[in-house]
Amino acid sequence: MSEHKVAVVGTPCEIMAASKIQHYTKSPIDFKIGLFCMENFSYSYFIELLKEYDLTMDEIEKFRIEKGYAFLFLKNGERLRIPLSTAKTVVRKNCNICVELTSETSDVSVGSIGSENGWSTLIIRTEKGEKVIENAIKEGYLKTKELTPSQLKLLEKIASNKAKENSENINLRESKARPVLYQREKTDNGILEEINESDFTDLRANVINVGACVLCGACEYVCPEKLIIIKDSKPRKKRSKCVEDCHECFAVCPRTFIPEKLRNDLSKKIGDYRKILTIKSLRHYEGQDGVVVTTILDYLITKKIVTETIVIDKKDNLPWKPVAKLTKDVDEIVKASGTKYSVCPVFKPLKQLKEDMI
Ligand SMILES: Cc1cc2nc3c(=O)[nH]c(=O)nc-3n(C[C@H](O)[C@H](O)[C@H](O)COP(=O)(O)OP(=O)(O)OC[C@H]3O[C@@H](n4cnc5c(N)ncnc54)[C@H](O)[C@@H]3O)c2cc1C
Ligand code: SF4
Ligand code: SF4
Ligand code: SF4
Repeated sequence: MSEHKVAVVGTPCEIMAASKIQHYTKSPIDFKIGLFCMENFSYSYFIELLKEYDLTMDEIEKFRIEKGYAFLFLKNGERLRIPLSTAKTVVRKNCNICVELTSETSDVSVGSIGSENGWSTLIIRTEKGEKVIENAIKEGYLKTKELTPSQLKLLEKIASNKAKENSENINLRESKARPVLYQREKTDNGILEEINESDFTDLRANVINVGACVLCGACEYVCPEKLIIIKDSKPRKKRSKCVEDCHECFAVCPRTFIPEKLRNDLSKKIGDYRKILTIKSLRHYEGQDGVVVTTILDYLITKKIVTETIVIDKKDNLPWKPVAKLTKDVDEIVKASGTKYSVCPVFKPLKQLKEDMI
């Protein structure tokens, strides 16, 4: 497995799963590009919502969420505006207890909040991330501007509001049901004790059955016995017997206890970082915002900094249904640009890679 170095792109919950996989297991994950994320939607409920507007997914060219609306740009050139308060009725339940906006455990984070149209906001968090971005700018892949204090303030305000609102939802949920484990602060030793007593049954009781699962597929990827499969939008276990003393699915799940060094410090609003910029691509032009994610992935592959990347493309037979792909082909990376506002198990292709290596 060691010759593979994989870049992953994901929402804050998926990047937390990637960070926990790196923390607890040996894995090929080498570079993490985190996205900003306020919420995500149920694919099937979104289809139902569209019926109220006499629309199907197939008619949509691009989604954009901003300024209190979900904008739907249609293939016939028209534009529909759905109030976010209406769209929020089809938000996934797990997103209501999510306190993170900006993927604080990534190497670099990218989103639109804070930047003008056609540009992205980039938060550089690690030394590795800084080196990649500096070189990509020098080599003419990306161009940048300073983020103004008012742009930064807006981003911090939206991040704080998300954390505040969803912390209240967490309190409400905990008053009625089980504790929201990922928000429980324990020492690393305390977490190891919990992990050593837990397996898939505990994951099912504390995460999956209480609407906290983000459907990232990390549990499916790490299971050494290939016991977990994601079926009907839920991780399920194929048979009851686990390998003795294995707790891996519970350890890597982003919705169980978070190790001290990965935990969000809510007083920091957008987490620790080295630099924050507004940025756009000088190589690619069709994407969600500044086409920055696609360009960084292109740079990482072209310069052989990573061997493969996981991208989220659309399924061929289901319009806008996301599917994760492992690729080293820049054309495939470009094809997968643009935001798909629903979930798929992003770590699935790593499972295949692991099996191919055996
Ligand atoms: C569910 C979701 C919610 C978001 N909410 C916000 C928000 O509230 N505010 C904000 O500023 N930004 C948000 N973003 C990020 C924003 O939509 C853009 O992805 C980001 O600004 C990067 O733009 P870009 O032009 O650089 O990306 P592009 O160059 O177009 O590349 C987009 C990349 O995103 C990946 N991708 C697409 N869909 C998904 C998905 N479902 N899961 C994981 N990866 C995916 C693709 O693999 C592609 O590599 C959200 C993204 C997602 C997926
Ligand atoms: S749980 Fe929902 S809101 Fe939070 S990062 Fe994941 S997709 Fe976004
Ligand atoms: S074998 Fe390990 S990873 Fe697989 S289900 Fe059992 S405890 Fe989870
Ligand atoms: S239960 Fe599995 S799929 Fe769901 S959030 Fe946890 S690791 Fe991800």
